[in-house]
Amino acid sequence: MAFKAEYIWIDGTEPSPSLRSKTKVLADGSDLPIWGFDGSSTNQAPGANSDCVLRPVYSCPDPISGGDNKLVMCEVLLPDMSPHPTNNRAACAEVASKFENQESWFGIEQEFTLFEADGKQPLGFPEGGFPEAQGPYYCSVGANHNFGRDVSEAHATACIDAGIGIAGTNAEVMPGQWEFQVGPLGPLEVSDQLWLARWLLYRIGEDYEISATLDPKPVKGDWNGAGAHTNFSTKSMREPGGIKIIEEACEKLAKTHQEHINAYGADNDQRLTGMHETCSINEFRYGVSDRGASIRIPMATANDGYGYLEDRRPSANMDPYIVCTMLIETICAEKLVEA
Ligand code: ADP
Ligand code: MN
Ligand code: MN
Ligand code: MN
Repeated sequence: MAFKAEYIWIDGTEPSPSLRSKTKVLADGSDLPIWGFDGSSTNQAPGANSDCVLRPVYSCPDPISGGDNKLVMCEVLLPDMSPHPTNNRAACAEVASKFENQESWFGIEQEFTLFEADGKQPLGFPEGGFPEAQGPYYCSVGANHNFGRDVSEAHATACIDAGIGIAGTNAEVMPGQWEFQVGPLGPLEVSDQLWLARWLLYRIGEDYEISATLDPKPVKGDWNGAGAHTNFSTKSMREPGGIKIIEEACEKLAKTHQEHINAYGADNDQRLTGMHETCSINEFRYGVSDRGASIRIPMATANDGYGYLEDRRPSANMDPYIVCTMLIETICAEKLVEA
């Protein structure tokens, strides 16, 4: 007997990559081998030298086709087995292992927006017009306010069945906008699993004839954008007195604001306007419980005196490998903070 392994990878689409996948049939019990693909069809190689390598990095049961079938998240390598320029995981792995002793945890809130299959008509918007203004949609119930619950529920169930560390879901502020969270997990675990969860979202959308997008500002105007708040802690932040380390981390983040913004996803300027629960892209602020800040310290963390911080800047289309790398590099490295 045989099983199917769906090899999933991140392509070279600019400015935000897409996911691709293809199926390998393997004999029962066999390991997941290295494989390859045509990089000239994914913006990852020239036609005359088109082979790219797929190396499995994370696999789980396939919750859609069931049985012994598997989903296999891969990283892309060049033919000489060095990381492909589009491979941001390799650098993340290096930084993760360098600062392993600080035990970084990440919880990522992935917001997304559901569209009809054409990718043009947002769910909950009447054709050619606008629905009732924002207010009733966040965490809503009822057919007049909640659009796409079936997709969100099928996706959460699939993530659980796959063993992905999904932490919850909620309907968001804009109609047809949703969120799921992955974590807390280490940097590679959260990133591999978030990419796989994104693939599952698109795949499940096929069955409902719904297309999901990670566009940070899918509808222009007075409608919330979509982000990927990244919650972060180290071991010392999670221990009594950790609030001091969290505040030091915020000071470090203040000094590297622009570098982080540059790495936090394309078109994020359309989302970080200072409106709609965001801080302007040109400002850096942190504060307790402040949803208009760049970094929010959750109320419970301030009250307990330890816990985690929430970086609210990353956009929905960010690459978690990059965001995790940046946070570890800025916060965990022994860079001196000027008084
Ligand atoms: P919000 O109130 O901003 O909507 P959510 O509940 O959506 O927050 O997401 C919070 C995320 O933070 C969850 O994924 C959760 O697992 C994660 N989290 C909780 N504790 C920690 C921690 N110590 N370090 C990092 N992430 C954490
Ligand atoms: Mn949330
Ligand atoms: Mn949210
Ligand atoms: Mn949040």
